[in-house]
Amino acid sequence: MNTGVDLIAAARSEGRGALDERAGKQLLAAFGIKTPKSTVVSGVRDAADALKTMGLPVVVKVVSPDILHKSDAGGVKVNLKTSDEVAQAIAAMLAEPKIKAAHVDGFLIEEMAPPGQEMVIGGVADPQFGPLVMVGLGGIFVEVLADVAFRICPITRLDAEEMLAELKGAAILRGARGGKRVSQAAIVDALLKIGGEGGLLMRHADDFKEADINPLIVSETEAVAVDARFILTGR
Ligand code: ADP
Ligand code: MG
Repeated sequence: MNTGVDLIAAARSEGRGALDERAGKQLLAAFGIKTPKSTVVSGVRDAADALKTMGLPVVVKVVSPDILHKSDAGGVKVNLKTSDEVAQAIAAMLAEPKIKAAHVDGFLIEEMAPPGQEMVIGGVADPQFGPLVMVGLGGIFVEVLADVAFRICPITRLDAEEMLAELKGAAILRGARGGKRVSQAAIVDALLKIGGEGGLLMRHADDFKEADINPLIVSETEAVAVDARFILTGR
């Protein structure tokens, strides 16, 4: 099984402190987590070609080691329906002050994930306990309410189910308040692939200080990781 050792080695050899988004998603895919079909282009000129093999609409994102929060920098444009819209999105990004000031590796073009509830799955390396895995509902639930559940890895299926059940916002996943029910099985599955026995965090316990899938978009049938950030340990 390819466990992404090569991706980590490549980032280290380039002196990077983190995997870029494409490498992060390749790592997730190596552990069986669904990610959108994507490609990286250098600019407006090669964007149209890249779209030939992708389904519209797409998202365009800036790829830069200097930009942590792409949206804050004007570096994410979703739901682009034509190659003109994609070209305009890249041109607009190149004019953004925070992007102008950054070293830009390129632009990630990726297919839109099916709509659903945004979740966050994270990992941190604890000096005493080793890898911990975290889950929460996206947006205000994590950022404002800090409604998250943590466990020490490796977690079992029962642990993953209990983590979801203990979220204050758990009812949202069952379709409370007119929302759509989402696949809890898909979230549990993703949690196990990240934090379970033989999962990503256990396999790479010495490689990452921090891991962050934000968001994992969960529909009635599947969970897709649309953003991935892996911070390397300094060794
Ligand atoms: P950042 O967190 O760096 O600002 P993200 O990659 O998380 O950037 O994108 C910002 C938001 O755009 C996501 O939270 C999600 O709502 C939306 N988004 C990003 N990629 C996709 C995608 N492939 N499909 C659907 N929505 C997406
Ligand atoms: Mg994000």
